[in-house]
Amino acid sequence: MVRKSASITEEVTFQLLETMDYTTNHIKERFCPSCSSQNQTVLFTLSMAKVFQVNPTYHEAWFSESSISPDFEFPIVKCNECGFVFSRFRMKDEIAFSYYNEGIDAQKSQEKIFKKEKRTSFLEIWRNLNLISDKQDYAKVLDFGAGWGDFLAIAKSPGVEVFGLEFDERKIAFAQSQGVLAGDIQFIKKNAPYDIFMCNQVLEHLNQPKEALEELRGVLRIGAVGFISVPNFDEPVIDQQLSLLNSGLPAKKDVDPLGHLNYFTPQHLRKMVSDAGFEEISFPSTQNVTKSLLSSLYNSLKKNTQEKPGTSIYVRAV
Ligand SMILES: [Zn+2]
Repeated sequence: MVRKSASITEEVTFQLLETMDYTTNHIKERFCPSCSSQNQTVLFTLSMAKVFQVNPTYHEAWFSESSISPDFEFPIVKCNECGFVFSRFRMKDEIAFSYYNEGIDAQKSQEKIFKKEKRTSFLEIWRNLNLISDKQDYAKVLDFGAGWGDFLAIAKSPGVEVFGLEFDERKIAFAQSQGVLAGDIQFIKKNAPYDIFMCNQVLEHLNQPKEALEELRGVLRIGAVGFISVPNFDEPVIDQQLSLLNSGLPAKKDVDPLGHLNYFTPQHLRKMVSDAGFEEISFPSTQNVTKSLLSSLYNSLKKNTQEKPGTSIYVRAV
């Protein structure tokens, strides 16, 4: 079902009531994660069944046995106050836990980390972070949402201590097998402060991305540098998804209200990041960087920007 710019009204509420038995017990409503407004407009809705169709890493069994009906429509809404686009609903914690543990095929998710392109992209980010960091010797590195620990396994080197925030026990165990320590937020706080960090494709999954950024800022020392990246949902991208859905075609894989709760434009990402106590490093300003390094860094930043326009940024904790 595709709705264009209908207000969140009785229609959605009614639909919610219809599926109440097996759905309302498992989902929660959300207000704007950027400005907390409750005032929003539905851009389109996506059913569980449609979400499953476009994501190859999902387990069919979880979807067919899920307590949420395959017909249940998840509305993607736009905040009437600040324009932020987000999923109106999220699964309650226990269902979300089961979704991440059983709904997603761990083997398929893990296979991605063995790819050469993943290594080269992480190497480039790691190199850029070292160029903009003022740390000349020992450094503590944090991956805020470490997954399998693959970025940290690349960063780990003499004098570099690495720590990953992760909740999935399978991922923590694998990271440990690669010499990477990972654990929950208490573990991360215990080892703070950090000098360099990574927050890659994490914020789009979180119910409260703003609070998560503040928590991240809280475990960094002033001047720490980091890389933050989310899928790009600039306005033309949203428009394109709308026209695909209107033509009866599937939206792209990233439009997935089960896993992706937040849809950032470059502007919204910047605002949230800046509000949490970071400044963007759009061009390296450190005097320690030589001219040739400066130009190669500039080129790689430019390349990165071209590949993922605007929603991959380097920042400094201020
Ligand atoms: Zn808002």
